[in-house]
Amino acid sequence: MSNEDKPMLEMIGIDKAFGRQTVLRNCSLSVKRGETVVLIGPSGSGKSTLLRCVNLLSPADSGDIFFARQNISRGEIPATKVRQHIGMVFQNYELFSHLTAAENVMLAPMTVLGINRIEARKQADALLAKVHLFDRADHFPDELSGGQQQRVAIARALAMKPELMLYDEPTSALDPEMIREVLDVMAELSAEGMTSMVVTHEMGFARRAANQILFMEQGEIIERASANDFFEGQVSARARRFLDQIL
Ligand code: ADP
Ligand code: MG
Repeated sequence: MSNEDKPMLEMIGIDKAFGRQTVLRNCSLSVKRGETVVLIGPSGSGKSTLLRCVNLLSPADSGDIFFARQNISRGEIPATKVRQHIGMVFQNYELFSHLTAAENVMLAPMTVLGINRIEARKQADALLAKVHLFDRADHFPDELSGGQQQRVAIARALAMKPELMLYDEPTSALDPEMIREVLDVMAELSAEGMTSMVVTHEMGFARRAANQILFMEQGEIIERASANDFFEGQVSARARRFLDQIL
């Protein structure tokens, strides 16, 4: 296998416990460059913890994680370095409230990469245009809707030019009418080839954007399917019952 064919992300046999509670059990997955993987499963099944293992916010107890061909789970590469290449978007966008949309997007490139203000602003304007918010660049978060704030958060994550985007239930705190605008932006990014892992129960998004669907339960990935198989109904009875609850 040449380096180009290697997955962007590979997790092998990941275990994680909090105290006595096992939260992840022998989780393995592989995400190719340009792929979008959707992670579904009941609350408490370990979806957030699995994402947080990827960017070392919640380090795995055992197992290996290869990102962009390097083993990032052995502590040989500083977590801050790894996180520079992995964008993360949370349920609660957590923008800096004292900074405008553009300044939120400019912050990391200026402070972490040392890019000058003029260049950072140019980049921020382009990214805000990409998330359809060019005309909101100078607004503060409290002057923006939840959907707009979440799109600023996506632009902010993109500002570091990540090779992988992680989204943890990015629309579950939003009013229904704003969900679509955020999912549209994510689907556009996926279509452009942004490698992504998305925890979401928005199956419309999964249908549009996902290559693989993983179903987690009690810390295990108990089912994995290509999006095609999944949407042709080739899922286990257990996954079907879960889907019937959320759809
Ligand atoms: P999901 O995102 O699928 O809802 P989580 O990954 O958030 O699941 O949580 C999985 C389990 O791990 C839950 O039982 C949760 O209570 C527990 N858990 C998550 N984070 C922590 C933590 N920092 N300390 C202790 N337990 C945690
Ligand atoms: Mg979660």
